[in-house]
Amino acid sequence: MAANLRFKVVGEAFSHTPVSVECPTERPSEYFGKYVFNKQKMFKYLPAKVYQKMCDVIDNGTPLDITIADAVAEGMKKWAMELGVTHYTHWFQPLTEGTAEKHDGFVEHDWKGGMVEEFEGKLLVQQEPDASSFPSGGIRSTFEARGYSAWDPTSPVFVIGDTLMIPTIFISYTGEALDYKVPLKKALYAVDKAATAVCQYFNPDVKKVVSNLGWEQEYFLVDEALYSARPDLVMTGRTLMGHDSAKNQQMDDHYFGSIPARVEEFMKDIEITALELGIPCKTRHNEVAPNQFELAPIFEETNLAVDHNMLMMSIMKRVARKHHFRCLLHEKPFKGVNGSGKHNNWSLSTDTGILLHAPGKTPMDNLRFVTFVVETLKGVYDHNGLLKASIMSATNAHRLGANEAPPAIISSFLGKTVTELLQHVEDADENALAVVGKQAFKLDLPSIPELLIDNTDRNRTSPFAFTGNRFEFRAVGSEANCASAMLTLNSAVAEALMDFKVRVDALIAEGVAKEAAVLKVVREDIKYIKPIIFNGNGYGDEWKEEAAKRGLDCETSAPLIFDNYLKESSVELFAKTKVMTAFELRARNEIKWETYTKKIQIESRIFGDLCLNHIIPVVTKYQSMLIDNVSKVFAIFPEAKAKEISKENLTIIEKISEHESFIIENVDKMVEARKVANKIESEREKAVAYHDTVANILEEIRYHVDKLETIVDDESWPLPKYRELLFIR
Ligand code: ADP
Ligand code: MG
Repeated sequence: MAANLRFKVVGEAFSHTPVSVECPTERPSEYFGKYVFNKQKMFKYLPAKVYQKMCDVIDNGTPLDITIADAVAEGMKKWAMELGVTHYTHWFQPLTEGTAEKHDGFVEHDWKGGMVEEFEGKLLVQQEPDASSFPSGGIRSTFEARGYSAWDPTSPVFVIGDTLMIPTIFISYTGEALDYKVPLKKALYAVDKAATAVCQYFNPDVKKVVSNLGWEQEYFLVDEALYSARPDLVMTGRTLMGHDSAKNQQMDDHYFGSIPARVEEFMKDIEITALELGIPCKTRHNEVAPNQFELAPIFEETNLAVDHNMLMMSIMKRVARKHHFRCLLHEKPFKGVNGSGKHNNWSLSTDTGILLHAPGKTPMDNLRFVTFVVETLKGVYDHNGLLKASIMSATNAHRLGANEAPPAIISSFLGKTVTELLQHVEDADENALAVVGKQAFKLDLPSIPELLIDNTDRNRTSPFAFTGNRFEFRAVGSEANCASAMLTLNSAVAEALMDFKVRVDALIAEGVAKEAAVLKVVREDIKYIKPIIFNGNGYGDEWKEEAAKRGLDCETSAPLIFDNYLKESSVELFAKTKVMTAFELRARNEIKWETYTKKIQIESRIFGDLCLNHIIPVVTKYQSMLIDNVSKVFAIFPEAKAKEISKENLTIIEKISEHESFIIENVDKMVEARKVANKIESEREKAVAYHDTVANILEEIRYHVDKLETIVDDESWPLPKYRELLFIR
């Protein structure tokens, strides 16, 4: 029966014709933002004064004047109803990694026996979702389960289907953050303030610094029929067993290869949907592994980019179903081929340009560039363990350090040009720093053509690489909410810049000229940050040894990596930047450990079931068939001849027994290990136990299951194999 099911689904999977997507008749630039209540729509649907105030809120971060809320809500409702919208929802990002929403209709009694559509300002601005089942890490005890969602006017409202989606923050009754957006927004505020102050050494007119994020989303597509026949994929997002396909990525023929027609239609569909929702999609291509693809929009302000990524991930999952695919965002759906990441391209910019842009023409421009590169690296160096914690999860742990993604050590690749530039500044003669009359100072920084930097030897193994006018944080997982990495990075950089300003100001107070003071502190920091710079091969074992010597965090166990959040330096960082309190950090860590435990627990349970209910019965049946054959051979042939004929089958029978007993014994062991771990009270200790005693047994058992897959008759194997899952036709 099982075998029939597999062949049936494989047949189904391979018989799909592409679902063709009807393209809009307009150009992308025309339908971009069609379903977004952006400034153009505000201008049209809001009274002039209200529009002005909203622009002030969006552009300058001015607090929202609550008296305009009714007018804004009225305008939104009018616009939305013209699109056929009947419901609205606060859309927030609880600490579950996904998004949450609860829809309410516009309709209200008109008290004359009928109904009217209403949407009051207070419903737009604040709601009290029954949020007791979202993780809070103990912040909200159940009897005080209230949580509030509050509108974030800097991220525009949009329409999906019949619903007006309102991006909101999510906080507890007592004001603690219960989401990713609150600390992210605080970190963005902190980096704005700190960077603006430093920018003013170079250009007193700078009033605001914006943090930018350009994410690159990797993903896998699997046919829905095959997906449904793999309980492990359905329950955990990854295959817990499966032998390598004879061909996978070794021919390097998938990367940038031509895109299969079915996939192309899917890509077209998600791009149109995304553009209509204001996500500026630009790039699409095949990735390294078979069935792996990437999508990248143009970078945006970080808070908006994070919302857009969350939205994009849900669009991808939804649209994939229309094309009879499932979109896998898990970091490691398949063993033996590359996993998926989400590079976070990060930079800071002012209204005058990008601060990490290649050096300009004047020495002051060059010095500004060096300052921002160096202080970014200082933030990364001081908090390298914390940054690793910010991207760590049970799922991303499979990818990091697996010879395909950055290692589980945070370091930075600068390339030849910038490395030499920093060396030049460090080695510069003291005299070169002299302040000469009105001309300020005469540091001769070489000017560097932008193109040169952009094309410097790209180091794919580096978790935090300088790539021309930005840093690329590559360790982020494909499934993650980018906010976790971005709030940590921006906080760390904010702290470095705050500290930088204190030191420069102290020198200026002693009578040192501004430029010389900046340069002196930069030179100190160039020496200080050396251990974080690594331009070599991050995959080598030598690097692990070297990194440990340099004092970088080399821990690989996810539950222990989370400890970084509670280190004194981290608590201090988040307090100084006002991003999170120690209480919030402790609560979040409880959630991280609990989530880790639950993920491994689910994997272990489903894996045990698959072993005992799917694999062992099929394997035993196959073995019995062989035994039957052998005994028949012995019945009709003389013993010596029968032995010779049955030699191979006897070996296979024996091998099967060995693998089977290993599997059965160790599934038992794994269940026992779970039982022991489940009794542990502390979330941290429980997660550590799951890591040390459950997760590793699973991998050991898997080896034997995968071996059996190569031995047992193909027709009876109950699960779709890698060679079927990984190749869309
Ligand atoms: P790669 O060659 O790394 O795959 P892509 O061109 O695919 O690069 O994507 C790079 C991403 O980086 C895009 O989202 C792009 O808009 C973004 N990006 C470019 N410049 C910056 C910048 N200064 N700051 C932040 N992101 C940027
Ligand atoms: Mg990139």
